[in-house]
Amino acid sequence: MSTVIADVAVTSSYIAGRWAAPEGKTQQPIVNPANGETLAMLPHAGAADVDRAAKAAHAAWLEWREVPVVDRVQPLYRFKALLEKNVTELGTILTRENGKTLEDAKTEVKRGIQMVEVACGMPSLMMGDSLNDVAKGIDCRTIRQPIGVCAGITPFNFPAMVPLWMYPFAIAAGNTFLLKPSERVPMTPTRVVELLLDAGLPAGVIQLVHGGREVVEALLEHPLIKGISFVGSSPVAKIVYKEAAAHGKRVQALGGAKNHLVVMPDAALPQTVEAIMGSAFGAAGQRCLAGSVLVAVGDVAEPLLDLLVKRAKALKVGDGMDAGVSVGPLVGQDQKKRVVGYIERGVAEGATAICDGRSVEADAAGVFVGPTVLDHVQPNATVAREEIFGPVLSVLRAETLDDAIRLVNSSDFGNTTTIYTSSGKAAREYQSRVEVGMVGVNMTVAAPMAFFPFAGWKNSFFGDLHAHGKDAVSFYTEQKVLMTRWF
Ligand code: NAD
Repeated sequence: MSTVIADVAVTSSYIAGRWAAPEGKTQQPIVNPANGETLAMLPHAGAADVDRAAKAAHAAWLEWREVPVVDRVQPLYRFKALLEKNVTELGTILTRENGKTLEDAKTEVKRGIQMVEVACGMPSLMMGDSLNDVAKGIDCRTIRQPIGVCAGITPFNFPAMVPLWMYPFAIAAGNTFLLKPSERVPMTPTRVVELLLDAGLPAGVIQLVHGGREVVEALLEHPLIKGISFVGSSPVAKIVYKEAAAHGKRVQALGGAKNHLVVMPDAALPQTVEAIMGSAFGAAGQRCLAGSVLVAVGDVAEPLLDLLVKRAKALKVGDGMDAGVSVGPLVGQDQKKRVVGYIERGVAEGATAICDGRSVEADAAGVFVGPTVLDHVQPNATVAREEIFGPVLSVLRAETLDDAIRLVNSSDFGNTTTIYTSSGKAAREYQSRVEVGMVGVNMTVAAPMAFFPFAGWKNSFFGDLHAHGKDAVSFYTEQKVLMTRWF
């Protein structure tokens, strides 16, 4: 919900059934990264707002948990229809505040809709087990009950989809939910929550609390909040995991990534290059599933890089709203500084920039970095190990599949990886031995659908139960075992 005050739109929070500016002291401009235009002001919430939201969510939960699950999913069916009707509007808001291309933004919204579809299956998903006569005359069954008030803290790069990994499942399972989206991109999740309310969700079941670190800290400490879902960078994920656990909450904290793309000498090169373009440079590399390290095995490096650099240089960089653009801006000037800093460090540590995106024509807003390929990167170089989160691909070479697997397994991260090959044997061996949670074969991005878990490993995930799929049902419910004997 936006209100206009002195010609500037203000993005409100939704607390205790009311859209209003929260009581925090910070006001933040929301800027279109492509052109520097101020889109809105975001008033941040403070700890007092979180307390009000948590209490309202708790009061709503006492009633919501009693609503039969078949009735709880009805607003979600209507929500799905409203999201579908508004894909273009949502995509446009998303592109303007985040920078990704309109096509990519609309795809993100569609992936979010799939989450709602799966959550609508909660009557089946929540079913328990039963076994009669576990002992003479004794029957046993399990039921799943909601855990209470849950909270979600989300990153800037998927402002429509990532919140939808969380609250449709939580709400359908009978919980109430507080969402704290990234303060960089609050307009998309706000519009999505408006649609959820338009779909008839009772007021207290969802709360939207905008802000930054102060809000997160208040959420982690609040005694009425029972579960925390976090998606963001690894250092923050680690803090959230520790703090939430220290306050007795269940927590799932999805972190950052450094994803390897392994190309075997028998890979189908034209298709492989197209897949790598999408993986490394789509969304300007600001995806936790973006390919970031290219491992060229055997003698594939020269023909692969020839094709790849030609294609990378041809990608159009610009405003994501413009037709034909493949690579939008980074989310802000701080992010550009960080990405350019990594490229400089890569070159200083011995790599060659065979495609250099540091200077992009007409970058008045100072936020564009074009596709960049760093060749001859050493396995221990900073650009081979740390998450850059920009359109930068570091190329390493390996003699054999074994060497490639060793390289990939030496990473601190384990979000996703893809092997490109026409050998079923190599693919099978790679899928089995690699220590990564989501593994693709000849894929652009091995992003799991809503009914499978988003299964990062190592520093890419802190917790036990992953986001969406059956894990979400387990995360947002508590099991109860019922044993019965009748005389
Ligand atoms: P971020 O960690 O900076 O912010 C994520 C959330 O945490 C935001 O809501 C932010 O307000 C809050 N936050 C930031 N610093 C905090 C602090 N010190 N204490 C408490 N809360 C804090 O992440 P980002 O820059 O918004 O998003 C990009 C990162 O998210 C990348 O590392 C990317 O790989 C990761 N990501 C991971 C996944 C996944 O599924 N594993 C998905 C999307 C993004």
